[in-house]
Amino acid sequence: MSTPVLVFDKVRKSYGSTEALKGISFDIAPSEVVGLLGPNGAGKSTLFQIAAGLFAPDDGTVDVFGLDYKQHASEILARLGVVFQSRSLDLDMTVNANLKFHGQLFGLSGKLLETRISEVTELLEVADLRKRPVRTLSGGNQRRVEIARALLNKPDLLLMDEPSVGLDATTRRKLVDHMQVVREQQGTSILWATHLVEEVDRADRIVFIAQGEVTHMGSPAQIIETSGAATLTDAYVALTGGADAHVEPAA
Ligand code: ADP
Ligand code: MG
Repeated sequence: MSTPVLVFDKVRKSYGSTEALKGISFDIAPSEVVGLLGPNGAGKSTLFQIAAGLFAPDDGTVDVFGLDYKQHASEILARLGVVFQSRSLDLDMTVNANLKFHGQLFGLSGKLLETRISEVTELLEVADLRKRPVRTLSGGNQRRVEIARALLNKPDLLLMDEPSVGLDATTRRKLVDHMQVVREQQGTSILWATHLVEEVDRADRIVFIAQGEVTHMGSPAQIIETSGAATLTDAYVALTGGADAHVEPAA
């Protein structure tokens, strides 16, 4: 087995008396796409922010590329791509200016920066929008630009927190297609947090999280088999005890 790119080990985090994470453990292998699936309030963003090094867990550890944020934050961040839940592009600047600024933060410049901007905008199919102010782009295209930006440094691990919130079904599906291309072409590992089952049906592995705990983990096929359901959506409802479950959970 190759060394995981990300390891959560018994991660705990509370906000006052709210226990957001109650001991989360799982890891992500190189080139693996993992869907972190759970309802609102499950703890996805909290876990995501810990993975991105924004704050430390109260207890337990997070290792990224075998490194610890306390000692190696800049080494980790140089190899990480992050797309946060809330949008974070400058709306008045052009797509190109946004990408250029971000690339420079990673120490890219000149011809190399130009080449990287061309590559990532072509990959996400926004190359022809480069001269447009971000404000004039659709929500879906703005999100694509954010993902392109997160890929400028050729990250070994891409973290995305509900990247498709506010997008229509067709655009959401397209984002899933883009992520498969990113993984195939760049070997990037991806952690994709979402509450929408259809966004993780092509993930290598799905981690179900509810009320700060991992409840189930496995490939989409394994999860369907465990639940005895016909589809991943039915499996999700069955395993998470949804009130309108279509099937009985497997014993
Ligand atoms: P998700 O992203 O799955 O919706 P979050 O990680 O945002 O879940 O939230 C998990 C729990 O922690 C929720 O009960 C939420 O209300 C609480 N929480 C999240 N962020 C904060 C915060 N900054 N202060 C207090 N409580 C928070
Ligand atoms: Mg969230």
